[in-house]
Amino acid sequence: MGGLMRVVVVGAGLGGVAAAVGLHRLGHEVTVLERGAELREAGTGIVVMPNGLRALDAVGLAGEVRGHVMHATTGGLRDWRGRPLLITDLARAQQEVGTPAILDRAELHRALRAPLPADLVRTGTPVERLEPDATGVSVIGDGGPVVRADAVIVADGIGSKLRAQLFPGHPGLRRTGRLDLRGMLPRSAGLATDLLATQLVDRRSGAMFGLFPVGEDRLYWFTDSVLDGTPPDATEARRRMLALMADWHPLVTALIEATPPGDVYVDLIACLAGPLPSFAAGRIALLGDAAHAMPPDLGQGASQAFEGRGRAGPPPDRRRAGRRRRAAPALRRRAQAQRQPHHAGGVPAVAADLPDRHRRLAARRAAPRRPVPPGHPAARRPLARLATPFRPGFVTLYGGIRPGQPLTEAGVGSCAVRRRGVRPAAIDMNAHAP
Ligand SMILES: Cc1cc2nc3c(=O)[nH]c(=O)nc-3n(C[C@H](O)[C@H](O)[C@H](O)COP(=O)(O)OP(=O)(O)OC[C@H]3O[C@@H](n4cnc5c(N)ncnc54)[C@H](O)[C@@H]3O)c2cc1C
Repeated sequence: MGGLMRVVVVGAGLGGVAAAVGLHRLGHEVTVLERGAELREAGTGIVVMPNGLRALDAVGLAGEVRGHVMHATTGGLRDWRGRPLLITDLARAQQEVGTPAILDRAELHRALRAPLPADLVRTGTPVERLEPDATGVSVIGDGGPVVRADAVIVADGIGSKLRAQLFPGHPGLRRTGRLDLRGMLPRSAGLATDLLATQLVDRRSGAMFGLFPVGEDRLYWFTDSVLDGTPPDATEARRRMLALMADWHPLVTALIEATPPGDVYVDLIACLAGPLPSFAAGRIALLGDAAHAMPPDLGQGASQAFEGRGRAGPPPDRRRAGRRRRAAPALRRRAQAQRQPHHAGGVPAVAADLPDRHRRLAARRAAPRRPVPPGHPAARRPLARLATPFRPGFVTLYGGIRPGQPLTEAGVGSCAVRRRGVRPAAIDMNAHAP
């Protein structure tokens, strides 16, 4: 297999459409199979991090998205009453690591799929299974074979049916025990803006609230909290969140109350129970949540799906050959260590260079958290105070806050800053303890 290929993309979510456009622009013959009756993306706002924008740049898809970069001057972490814990100078952060964009999910999906010729997409086409053989892959739907391909990109999302078929030994998804609510609403004139681009955190309950501007005239908010008991419906979830946040900064409850219950999205958060042994098997590659479903507090799910899409550049066979030559010794060592057949021969370029950090990240997140034993220095110091001065970046709380547990350095950081090897600062969550 070499040169241009017939590639099928299963799933037309954010990752699938970006991959399809990238592959189409590289000259491959692309077919997108989507089970939904139409192409759409539901939801509220979404943050596309600088790495995601750079990935979209590579296939010429970032233009419209960059029109939605965040114009906030400060951001960071505050306590539940809105008192600053860590204020980020976004202008400096943006200079150092780039600017994230925040936009309506539906608008993002529309912008990504716009360059895709309509006749390449088949909606109402659920894929049931894939049957690879020596010369290609048969893509099987509920009524039998749908199409034959040289390579298949599996982008069927967090609940991926095909992932389970490709890696039957993998444990699948794990609930994180967190519940997220999201809403978007018009931004009323005169609204206090000091909470924009900020996350409020409550060390008592472990809950978080984030607020971001979407363009000039809309606001996107989300909450993340421990899930108590059975998952509530949207109305009940909103009611519980209002009760939980009753003594928070008044803007928090005002924004949740101003969002009609029908416009509040509720998600039980899940991620992969463990990293997949590989993102590819022969002619089949996984991408996006199908490959590395991660909790949304990383703010990276879509951006890393974009990083996994087909890249612009030299034709795939040349790129693959060069990369294989350079990476051969390391790949051999890693494949041996994993006792897995590596995805060398016959894999589309989209899969061959997915970064290892997805796996490292997933492994770190899947590792059980060790509670801090009473008497341990970290327990006496409510939060690891850091020697390292804060460098500007986009703060992300990994894995949520555990009530009564100190945040450690490992739990606070910035994806963007970390990637440049800068240690994140820690924040004293108890700075304003009553
Ligand atoms: C609350 C919340 C907030 C988030 N916020 C952010 C954020 O700010 N920034 C960010 O980067 N990420 C965020 N994420 C994560 C991000 O939404 C996902 O990582 C991203 O949407 C995954 O895209 P995908 O294309 O892999 O999957 P999906 O968007 O799930 O698309 C999968 C597609 O495949 C289709 N499909 C499924 N099965 C089949 C089948 N058998 N045959 C054919 N079609 C099929 C589905 O209908 C769907 O269209 C958030 C997630 C949550 C839950």
